[in-house]
Amino acid sequence: MRAAVLKRTTNLLENKSPLELIDLPVPVPREREVLLKVLVCGVCHTELDEIEGRTPPSKFPIIPGHQIVGRVEQRGSKASKFKAGDRVGVAWIHSSCGKCKYCRTGMENLCDEFKATGRDVDGGYAEYTTVPEEYAYRIPEVFSDAEAAPLLCAGAIGYRSLRLANIQDGDNLGLTGFGASGHLVLKMVMYKYPRTKVYVFSRTEAEQRFAMELGAAWAGSAEEQTPEKLQAIIDTTPAWGPVVEALKNLEHGGRLVVNAIRKEEADKSELLKLDYPRDLWMEKEVKSVANITRRDVEEFLQMAAEIPIKPEVREYGLEEANQALLELKERRIRGAKVLRISR
Ligand SMILES: [Zn+2]
Ligand SMILES: [Zn+2]
Repeated sequence: MRAAVLKRTTNLLENKSPLELIDLPVPVPREREVLLKVLVCGVCHTELDEIEGRTPPSKFPIIPGHQIVGRVEQRGSKASKFKAGDRVGVAWIHSSCGKCKYCRTGMENLCDEFKATGRDVDGGYAEYTTVPEEYAYRIPEVFSDAEAAPLLCAGAIGYRSLRLANIQDGDNLGLTGFGASGHLVLKMVMYKYPRTKVYVFSRTEAEQRFAMELGAAWAGSAEEQTPEKLQAIIDTTPAWGPVVEALKNLEHGGRLVVNAIRKEEADKSELLKLDYPRDLWMEKEVKSVANITRRDVEEFLQMAAEIPIKPEVREYGLEEANQALLELKERRIRGAKVLRISR
């Protein structure tokens, strides 16, 4: 099968073709796994973190990609959840131990043996992939393949970060950064918390305008003071500056949820601007969101189908994976990027 693989971590600005297209044997599903023929695979900012070593793969070469929509091609001897031909999705969580205290209480996202699709186990930048059937999800009919792919990561983790933000209908919510996850969160909020006002912080006027078009109550830069205080803020930026800037806008007892797998080191000195009385006093909280659970993916797909949420997507061929990654890095094109691998 054709697969785009990463052989070592590298700097994308120096090496513009980090992935190599090679030929590999089709994987064989284990007992409780299914073999999927990959239809599409989304391109995610986390791939940049893998390639550049901020969350390095645990094996090389690795096939990246964790927003997979595929058709069940073959089942392992003890797999029975799906039948051949079913259209299913695979997300960031590829598997977990199933036995530890986290796994037993629905917090498998925190499992010490958490395995990430495309980082610890081969992912979807290939014609075929395998996944334990319990970690695959039926894709609602209402979505095209390409529409469903970004929902599996940006959507599901956005859903988790909104759960962790713990707001009530009518509470003000801030979003720092307005990429794929941010715009999906805005749509979820408008559906689930219709009285909540969403405040969007973004560096670019284009993103600010886009946020207002989609229904944000306010959009501005991270340095600005919002006209009202915010009960919670979800941060999806790779930087530190916006996190520090955002804290001054929180209500007493408010919570900032950092939805980023790693922060870039470049502006770490911004943390020194943290002002305790202004930014943290009065029981303000900072919390990260780590990975996702199967429940997050399932509940989110269902909600996204009800709303419905249909992300703006642009398709690339598998051989254009490097170009898609570079465009993501340079933030040149708005909307989610998806590799079309088969039909
Ligand atoms: Zn992702
Ligand atoms: Zn576990």
